Amino acid sequence: MDLTYTPEEEEFRARLREWLAGVLPALPPKPSPDDWPGRRAYDLGWQRMLYDAGYAGLHWPVDAGGRGATPTQHLIYLEETEKAGAPYVGANFVGLLHAGPTIASEGTPAQRARWLPPVLRGEEVWCQGFSEPDAGSDLAALRTRAWRDGDDYVVSGSKIWTSHAEVADWCELLVRTDPAAPKHRGISWLAMPMDAPGITVRPLRTLAGSTEFAEVFLDEVRVPVSHRVGAENDGWRVTMVTLSYERGTAFVGEVVACRRVLGEVAREARKNGRWDDPALRRRLGGLNAEFRALWRLTQWNVSEAQRNGGVPGVGGSVFKLRYSHARQELYDAAAEVLGPEALDLGREWTLDRLSSLSYTIAAGTSQIQHNIVAERILGLPKGR
Ligand SMILES: Cc1cc2nc3c(=O)[nH]c(=O)nc-3n(C[C@H](O)[C@H](O)[C@H](O)COP(=O)(O)OP(=O)(O)OC[C@H]3O[C@@H](n4cnc5c(N)ncnc54)[C@H](O)[C@@H]3O)c2cc1C
Repeated sequence: MDLTYTPEEEEFRARLREWLAGVLPALPPKPSPDDWPGRRAYDLGWQRMLYDAGYAGLHWPVDAGGRGATPTQHLIYLEETEKAGAPYVGANFVGLLHAGPTIASEGTPAQRARWLPPVLRGEEVWCQGFSEPDAGSDLAALRTRAWRDGDDYVVSGSKIWTSHAEVADWCELLVRTDPAAPKHRGISWLAMPMDAPGITVRPLRTLAGSTEFAEVFLDEVRVPVSHRVGAENDGWRVTMVTLSYERGTAFVGEVVACRRVLGEVAREARKNGRWDDPALRRRLGGLNAEFRALWRLTQWNVSEAQRNGGVPGVGGSVFKLRYSHARQELYDAAAEVLGPEALDLGREWTLDRLSSLSYTIAAGTSQIQHNIVAERILGLPKGR
C-alpha cells in the first residue's frame, strides 16, 4: 500500500483549499441546533455550493452523477473541508453517505435517475428507517410489515431513532415482505416518500437537548412497488451494502474534526494552567497518537475498498469501534481541562461531550462491532 500523494492529488488539494478559502468567509451564520428547517436550508445550501463548484458526490461513480474521484481524493476532500471548518454534511448525511451510494450500486437506471441528482444538488433529504423498538442490534428481527396491493406495498409498523425524520423527503425503509421466511430472507428495502398519508413523526429529545431523531409510525402507508431497491425479500443483502457505507466511510471526516478539537483543548490547557499537569499532557499525547492511527487506518480501509471495487469492507468495524471510544475520551479530556466550566451547557464542548455518548450506540453498538471483528476478521466462532 502506497500512502504518498501523487502530484495530481496534491494539485487537487491545492485547488480545493483555494476554493474553500474563497467561499467560506461569505457563508451565512449557522442556525441554532433546534432550528430544524433552518438547519435543513443551511445544509442544503452548502450542498448546492459544492454541486455548483463540482465537488458534490466526489466519491460517487460518474454514471451516478458523481465525480468518480479516487478514494484518496475523497480523503483529501474530507481532510481539507474539516481543516477549513467547512459545514458538516448535516441533514444530507443519509442521502449522500449511504442511501445514495446504495441506490447507485443496487438501483435500476430509473431509480438512479429519480433519486440521485436531487441528493447531489441539495434538493432532497433522506432519513434511515431501519431500527425498531425490538430490532436494533438484531436488525433482522424487524416487524414493520408490507403487503402487496396492486402496484403498491401497504406498510404498517413503527420505526425509532430515525435521525432527521422531521425534515426528510425520503426514507430508506426496511420492511418485512415475507413473514413466513427465515428472518433474514423476508426483508425488502424501500424508498418511502415522507409526505405519504399514514406517516406520523414524533420527535425525541436527546440528552444534549436537541430533537435530532424521532419515532415514526406507519399506518397503511402506500409505497409504489417500483420504489423497492433490489429484489423482493432480498433487502438484507442490500442492507449490508448500506451498512458497509455507514460504518466504512461515514465517520471519516469527523476524525479530522477530532484532531482539530484536540489542538484546541491543548491550547486551552496552556492558557488556564492545566498543561503543567504531566498526567494530562500524557493523556492528550495518547489521544493525538490514537487519532493519527485512526487516520492511517482510514487510509488502509480506503485502499482496501479500492481493491474490492469501492464497497468498504469489515475494516470499517475496527474504525467505528476505536473512533467512537476515542471521541468520548477526547471530550472527557476536554472536560478535565475545562474543570467546572465543563458543566456550562452554553459551551460547544459540553454539548459535544453529551452527544459523544451516543457514538458507541449509533450505527451499530460497540458490542456488535466486537462481534463482527471477532467473527469476520479474527475467524472466532459465533457467540450464539
Ligand atoms: C444518535 C443516534 C442516531 C441514530 N440514528 C438512527 C437512524 O437514523 N435510523 C435508524 O434506523 N436507527 C438509528 N439509530 C439506532 C441505532 O442504530 C440503534 O440504537 C443501535 O443499532 C442499537 O440498537 P438498540 O438501541 O435497539 O439496542 P439493543 O439492540 O437493544 O442493544 C442493547 C444492548 O445490548 C447489546 N447487545 C445486543 N445484542 C448483542 C449481541 N448479539 N452481542 C453482544 N451485545 C449485544 C448492545 O450492544 C447494547 O449494548 C440511532 C441511534 C443513535 C444513538
